[in-house]
Amino acid sequence: MPPKASKKDAPVERPILGRFSSHLKIGIVGLPNVGKSTLFNTLTKLSIPAENFPFCTVQPNEARVNIPDERFEWLCQFYKPKSEVPAFLEIHDIAGLVKGAHEGQGLGNQFLSHIRAVDGIFHVLRAFEDPEIIHVDDSVDPVRDLEVITEELRLKDIEFMEGKVEDLEKSMKRSNDKQLKLEHECCEKIQAWLKAGKDVRLGDWSAADIVILNTFQLLSAKPIVYLVNMNEKDYQRKKNKFLPKIHAWVQEHGGEPIIPFSCSLERTLADLPADEAAKYCEENKLQSALTKIIKTGFSAINLIYFFTAGPDEVKCWQIRRQTKAPQAAGAIHTDFERGFICAEVMKFEDLKELGNEPAVKVDRVLYKKCGEGPGDRI
Ligand code: GDP
Repeated sequence: MPPKASKKDAPVERPILGRFSSHLKIGIVGLPNVGKSTLFNTLTKLSIPAENFPFCTVQPNEARVNIPDERFEWLCQFYKPKSEVPAFLEIHDIAGLVKGAHEGQGLGNQFLSHIRAVDGIFHVLRAFEDPEIIHVDDSVDPVRDLEVITEELRLKDIEFMEGKVEDLEKSMKRSNDKQLKLEHECCEKIQAWLKAGKDVRLGDWSAADIVILNTFQLLSAKPIVYLVNMNEKDYQRKKNKFLPKIHAWVQEHGGEPIIPFSCSLERTLADLPADEAAKYCEENKLQSALTKIIKTGFSAINLIYFFTAGPDEVKCWQIRRQTKAPQAAGAIHTDFERGFICAEVMKFEDLKELGNEPAVKVDRVLYKKCGEGPGDRI
């Protein structure tokens, strides 16, 4: 048996940028007339009715959409529970940004504050040409649009950091606190990074920097998924004249996910009954991109979930990546976190393969007896 790695040898996980909460949301951002509202409306048609969230208000610019998951469906089939609660992604429609937004152009500051309130960004890009639909900058050029939006977010961050550094300098005149000095050093580092034209999320920050950064919720620190809106024909043939340039730009600026989609196709599909939509996709060799968009967005904002399953309820419990077992248990009930001793878990694949919970437990005992340690099975 190979020697067990001690806890000391385990790599220390660096904290991730962003709020530590299980209630995280993603915002749809982009220039005007790129397809944001059309996308939001098709997502709204998939969304869970507001009455399913009795203790919170769902605003008209918010949609909560289920995360499609075959494992969840299998568990529901298996337990036939009285209640089924899938995981969901909360999506906010944020009105269009324009050049100069950080100085207040086109209600800019209001929009930027909406972006501050979300945890990640669906950045919608227009890669369709249609003379009927005007572009704020007269021509279709998604790479220029990328530059505009990215710069607006960064300029707002620079403005924010300038205020922060000034405040810290004032406080440092009044006090010798070591913590203030550390924070000031960190803020100057962030400011220099931004002024060099780089986004915060791409920096190699230390754990201590991240703790400070996470108190600011900077706009350029938020994870991004690029959604490239093209016409149905381009989407079907998987070719679009702007796509290679967008791809090259994104690779140079962090390499985040890019998802091609077609707003007009999604709208057509959303307006058809399910069987007709399926037929349309089959006949035209097409597939909706919404599932991919939803799953990628969920993962980008660092959400994960675990299942609890039984005849009463099959439920997905959403937690943030890096949540430890006691806090994950706390998602179910705060008492579980306070009195936490251990968690008994099983892998979905084992349950599916072996067919019932006692069999998974017996299998686990056998593994232990063979001296193989349960690490790779459980
Ligand atoms: P927003 O300002 O970004 O929210 O853009 P909208 O979703 O309101 O779309 C602006 C206009 O572009 C609307 O008239 C849409 O019908 C149209 N539009 C959106 N996506 C497409 C597309 O893929 N192709 C074409 N031709 N028009 C689109």
